[in-house]
Amino acid sequence: MLKMKKLLKVFFAMTLTAFLLFSFECLAAKDSLESAQSVKIKAVQNLSGCVKISWEKFDGALSYELEKKMSNGKWQKIYEGETRTYKDSEVEDGKVYFYRVRAVLENSVSAFGTKSTKFLKAPSLKSVKNSTNGVLIKWEKCQNATGYKIYRKSESAKKYKLLKTVGANTLNFTDKKATGFLKYTYKIKQQSANYISATSEVVSLLYVPCVKNVTAKNSPNGIKITWNSISSSKGYSVWRKISGEEWKKIGVSKGEKNYYIDKKCTYGKKAYYKVRAYYNAKNYGVFGNTASLYTVNPNKKMVALTYDDGPYTPVTGRILDCLEKNKARATFFVVGSRVDTYSDCIKREAKLGCEIANHTYSHTSLTKLSKSDIKNEIEKTDNLIKKYTGNSVNLVRAPGGAVNQTVKDSVSHPLINWSVDTLDWSHRTASKTVSNIKANVRDGSIVLMHDLYSATADASETIIPYLVKNGYQLVTVSEMMDAKGVTMKNGNLYRSA
Ligand code: ZN
Repeated sequence: MLKMKKLLKVFFAMTLTAFLLFSFECLAAKDSLESAQSVKIKAVQNLSGCVKISWEKFDGALSYELEKKMSNGKWQKIYEGETRTYKDSEVEDGKVYFYRVRAVLENSVSAFGTKSTKFLKAPSLKSVKNSTNGVLIKWEKCQNATGYKIYRKSESAKKYKLLKTVGANTLNFTDKKATGFLKYTYKIKQQSANYISATSEVVSLLYVPCVKNVTAKNSPNGIKITWNSISSSKGYSVWRKISGEEWKKIGVSKGEKNYYIDKKCTYGKKAYYKVRAYYNAKNYGVFGNTASLYTVNPNKKMVALTYDDGPYTPVTGRILDCLEKNKARATFFVVGSRVDTYSDCIKREAKLGCEIANHTYSHTSLTKLSKSDIKNEIEKTDNLIKKYTGNSVNLVRAPGGAVNQTVKDSVSHPLINWSVDTLDWSHRTASKTVSNIKANVRDGSIVLMHDLYSATADASETIIPYLVKNGYQLVTVSEMMDAKGVTMKNGNLYRSA
């Protein structure tokens, strides 16, 4: 019994002590929570390859403890020290990280201040290049991005300017507002929801615009290549295709001079030219469009065979076969109402480098029509030719060659008649057509025939090789006018070059 009493006493004493201790601890804990303030985290910031945590000074702090919530949900101390910033490089793109910081005081600790961020790696710029329409910026895809922000700084500016925010699937941007011959610096950031990454590396370039509207034409001095001038350009380099994909720089045009004459091309072939602007030896724009043409030797005699009233495959096809075989070209003044039916013919004419010109839609005499009816006859045919060849029409021949002032005022192309009339449509005899041409042809002639009659195909099969053999270049009307230096005007009538 005595033993029992003693035991009870001990038990009682222990319980009381435990209770008191527990109460005291509770009290103390409550005290410290209420009195201690938390550390204020200034920023949790995405930098390149790490998250930077920085916090404000805490009065009385001896040091600070930084903890990070791990993937198992537990907090782990990743730093302890006096410095108030820390860079955590144990981070993965697109993951959210929680950080908390407390101050270690003389006899206690402060409460934690907590902040989080989603780490987004700095995106990588793949390239910054001059392009056809401006500066083309390309970057590598970031898996978790919901978009990208593109920034630009011009040479004279102090700050970067946000150019554009694009969606997650866009991986390039063309800065169309860049001004020629200025230096620009670009950088990008990725974003994911409300989070934003550090900036990519910066890339600079001197913007050299692309040359526009390159054209190549025959001229009495050689091949004249022209293009739209770019203001404040230092110069242009002109290139000719040598073979396949091989190009050769054939010369430069300095300053804003926007043409170059190639005197060294091989005549009688198709030639290709392209041009680019430069700033200096290191800074070039991209090449503009490639211009091509059939070259005509201005110092060698030439003739333009013309065929009216087609297309008509049984005849036109034979003429085209013969032209192709003799590496020659002709001009076909087609009747618009026939174009849909013989569209294959039109396409082949274009493919062989022949000129397809306008002989009205319904082959009615234009001199009897009103201004608006004339325009309608011409426009309908222009559109049909363009539909099948992709080329704009340059020339018109009025039916019968009949032209008056109303026609001249209404037609928005040069009007082409002829200097050698074979009368093939009337006699329909090949030998007469051939002898007529042989008797009258000279350098600069425009010969009139009609690709409706088999006799005309027969005549062509004789006269085409004959003319080639006799030193004539068989060219289109436009090529001949260019090579002879004749500048044709809309509504003016021409009979030869
Ligand atoms: Zn006709």
